Amino acid sequence: MLGRKLMESSQSLLGDNALPRGPSNSKVFRLTMAFMALVVVTFIGVEGWRAERDYHRAYAVAQDSVSNLARATAQHAEDAVREVDVVTAGLRERLEGDGLNTIDTPRIQGLLKEQTLLMPQLQGLFIYGPSGNWIATSQYITPETANNADRDYFNYHRTHASRDILIGKLVKSRTSRELVIPVSRRLDNPDGSFGGVLLGTLKLSYFLDYYGDFQLDDKGALVLALRSGEVLVRRPFMSPAADLSLAESEIFKRYLPVSNKGVAEVMAVIDNTPRLYAYRALASYPLVVEAGLSLESIVGPWRHDLFKSALVLLILLAGLSGFGAIVLNQLRGRMALEKEIRLAHQAVRDMALTDSLTGLGNRGKLDLTLTREVERARRERTPIALVMLDVDYFKRFNDRYGHPAGDACLRQVAAAIQATLKRPADLAARFGGEEFTVLLPDTDLAGACAIAEQILQAIRTLGIEHLDHPQQQVTASVGVCCRRPALEFASPTSMIAAADACLYMAKRQGRDQWCCEVGHEALTPSKVR
Ligand code: GH3
Ligand code: MG
Ligand code: MG
Repeated sequence: MLGRKLMESSQSLLGDNALPRGPSNSKVFRLTMAFMALVVVTFIGVEGWRAERDYHRAYAVAQDSVSNLARATAQHAEDAVREVDVVTAGLRERLEGDGLNTIDTPRIQGLLKEQTLLMPQLQGLFIYGPSGNWIATSQYITPETANNADRDYFNYHRTHASRDILIGKLVKSRTSRELVIPVSRRLDNPDGSFGGVLLGTLKLSYFLDYYGDFQLDDKGALVLALRSGEVLVRRPFMSPAADLSLAESEIFKRYLPVSNKGVAEVMAVIDNTPRLYAYRALASYPLVVEAGLSLESIVGPWRHDLFKSALVLLILLAGLSGFGAIVLNQLRGRMALEKEIRLAHQAVRDMALTDSLTGLGNRGKLDLTLTREVERARRERTPIALVMLDVDYFKRFNDRYGHPAGDACLRQVAAAIQATLKRPADLAARFGGEEFTVLLPDTDLAGACAIAEQILQAIRTLGIEHLDHPQQQVTASVGVCCRRPALEFASPTSMIAAADACLYMAKRQGRDQWCCEVGHEALTPSKVR
């Protein structure tokens, strides 16, 4: 039972399939590495793609927001000014129709008060004479000595015949001390000469209250400015003393000349903040609104998200790397073990197929190789030769010199045989006792006989003393067999038998010679000396 098991295991060791089939560990290692790299690249790729998409979305949302804000503030400003435009147009018609010199002041004053109360944006309505003196006002207080001839709008109307309204720079009201936007008209005498100015003042607070209702971040901005660039209203509020002007801003210089509305990413000239602005020039009045969100408020939340995602990704990748490192380490260990096993297996295999006395292949090795080489010769249509060698009168040698000397002699003979062989595929093996074989793939009969002679000569050259030999030295006899498996019958057994028969013939012919078969039947001794 134990013997059979040993045989089976030795057979499995000798066979080519001694190790289990399936993907090798190095392949698994490479696959694992590739898989991990793929996972990492995929994660990073997906996160990158997501981050880019989110950025574009945030940007698009911001564009919509500023555009909507600009539209709303533009509409608001246009409505506020239009109402004053309409009211002052009506008033002018009436004043000029009635005659500027015959104004019924109490009645007009009542009318102005009434109109002012109806319009929340109005701080007041005022009528000035040609020298700037106050004629009538919606205000309860009418400064007797007040004169507005120094105001820009007054000078403008005095020197310009245009009948359109003029929207002026922000001024401090002389009645309520609050900041107002003057909207004025020229009044003409019947002869067309300058008759005075009709003024409506828009409360800055009216706009600031409206702009304050919008949800904007700290750095967001809403601006109402004259087309010439002077800022009228701004959120966050800035004192008009600063005399703010947007005339040199990119939007006024680069964008507005090309288009009345749009969206642009620019650096604000007033507070040096990079913003995404939507701008709109009002269709009916020389006014421009700008609504801006700071890039920080657009990109900030996105960046925050990106940071969080990157952190999660990093943790994930770290986990993956740790896990991968463990797996790869284990695989590496297994690979090292596999190599050790393979080497051990190879060593056992070599030992099992090696003759311990001479170091040549043993009978097992010959059987394995001969079977394989005969098949190969059949496939490749090449000849294959087998040489069988037997030391002459070796029993006598042992008897005279003893077994250890006999062993030493066999080692020398083996070395001489091995030294004769030049091709890597040639195989020298100890067949048993003092018999050796040499397998010569892809070698024809003439070549094999030549090698046989070289081997015999090498043994003679050793010059080992053998006093019980007629030639006084160790010699050997050789049988040579050559087959062409593709053309004729050839098997390992038949080749061994044929070589052995030739060897027997060489012995009979007197030893120290080789003998080969011719035509498979007759055995022709060939003594070459
Ligand atoms: P022949 O010329 O006809 O071959 O005569 P021979 O004496 O060589 O042949 P025989 O078969 O009668 O004797 C072979 C001898 O080889 C017998 C044995 O003692 C010896 N022998 C076999 N194996 C070994 C070995 O491993 N070591 C030693 N020292 N001798 C061995
Ligand atoms: Mg023998
Ligand atoms: Mg012998």
